Amino acid sequence: SPCIVWLRRDLRLADQAAFAAVAATGPVIPVYVLDDETPRHRRMGGAARWWLHHSLASLDAALRERGSRLILRRGRCEEVLAAIAGETGASAVHALHHYEPWWRNAEKAVGKRLALHLHHGNYLAPPGTVLTGAGTPYRIFTPFWRALGELMPPLAPLPAPARIMPPAAWPASEPLADWALLPRAPDWAGGLRAAWRPGEDEARARLEAFAGKAARYEATRNLPAGDGTSLLSPHLHFGEVSPAQVWHAVAGAGGSVGTFLGELGWRDYAQNVIVQFPEYGARAARPEFADLAWRTGPAAEADLRAWRRGRTGYPIVDAGMRQLWATGWMHNRVRMIAASFLVKHLLIDWREGEQWFWDTLVDADYGSNAVNWQWVAGSGVDANMFVRIMAPLVQSEKFDAAGYIRAWVPELAGLSDSEIHDPPDHRRPRGYPARIIEHRAARERALAAHGAAKGAR
Ligand code: FAD
Repeated sequence: SPCIVWLRRDLRLADQAAFAAVAATGPVIPVYVLDDETPRHRRMGGAARWWLHHSLASLDAALRERGSRLILRRGRCEEVLAAIAGETGASAVHALHHYEPWWRNAEKAVGKRLALHLHHGNYLAPPGTVLTGAGTPYRIFTPFWRALGELMPPLAPLPAPARIMPPAAWPASEPLADWALLPRAPDWAGGLRAAWRPGEDEARARLEAFAGKAARYEATRNLPAGDGTSLLSPHLHFGEVSPAQVWHAVAGAGGSVGTFLGELGWRDYAQNVIVQFPEYGARAARPEFADLAWRTGPAAEADLRAWRRGRTGYPIVDAGMRQLWATGWMHNRVRMIAASFLVKHLLIDWREGEQWFWDTLVDADYGSNAVNWQWVAGSGVDANMFVRIMAPLVQSEKFDAAGYIRAWVPELAGLSDSEIHDPPDHRRPRGYPARIIEHRAARERALAAHGAAKGAR
């Protein structure tokens, strides 16, 4: 009887342990379930839905080249998969482990109804298995990474199956277009289409292109104007490429490739955190943050809107927020600056920022997003101290963001390199906002609010 391969954020054929386990054993039914109903489900954001649409189309095409296809259904995973098993006589479901709280719920529910075989391969090491000498999970990145390093390199990637046997009859599949994953009117996805091509082929091409530059990562990764990073994050999030493939493609590059692998380690670390703290996307790990008097009300809401739209009057923040809106991605250095600005300068709850990123990032990832927001806010199990407040204008100069600002804030394009980071009032073009708040006043307000929350404990 056929086997079901249940796909989620593992939309690839190479180094995909579920396909590898069953491709040689008999007929296979690849299934993607759009599940907005499983308990604790967090509805995928708009930019991620755009990506998902194209990634599913790409995977379906790759499957068809191998004699197979992708079955699309909506509903609760366990109900949909049980129905398909009933229709086709499928006896078992193979899938890769996922760690978001809702996917763990779905795995439990599927496991109760069907023979579910879960495989590893979306992380360098299975989250939850990298443990201290005392057998407990790590909370801090650096010792986690040291311990993970002991388990490296990951196993060599598995090849894609040359052929995947179809079942005697295909179960019904919904048309992808019916899922309405793409924006209708207004079509906000033009910038996404220009910036990205979802799917396994492009993921491989990006990886190959980056492998040639990986040795220089340390020197270039913090410069938002350059292209020093891999741009693999949405491909990794959707599993179009595996971290083992990335590791083996770059590990021999020499130079500062170790710094790059450490960033890949953060991706594993984030899952290790959400396995321990499933609510990490919604709850601060440090107790004093429950008492922090975040700003609310009309003035704070207006500031939040200005931040989202890239109209804070701080060029580096505005450039980042506009890059995010246009392309679904923002450079990591600027993510840190923009996130810090929201939390500390505007004193707005980090969860507002986490939600906006969730909706607008093509790489929106429950674990990575929450871990990074809590790191920036200072509320996480491993975090930057709240009282260390980033100065956006200093950061902008230090990381040479003039070209980046010109690209994303065209109103400022005529300013010189020395003026563009912090345009003097008389040089601010009309239409570009004044600074929403002064750095010194913002800093004092943030420190006072944090001090009061700590004092309340
Ligand atoms: P590279 O520098 O080439 O790094 C390679 C890969 O390592 C990335 O593709 C990514 O998978 C992983 N990685 C790198 N840095 C981190 C990190 N700090 N944490 C976790 N993984 C990392 N990354 C996401 O994938 N999804 C998110 O939702 C997300 N939200 C973030 C929110 C904030 C506030 C901040 C400061 C960072 C966030 N990041 C997130 C991390 C990081 O900014 C992106 O992974 C990175 O910018 C992606 O670009 P790249 O692929 O060129 O990265």
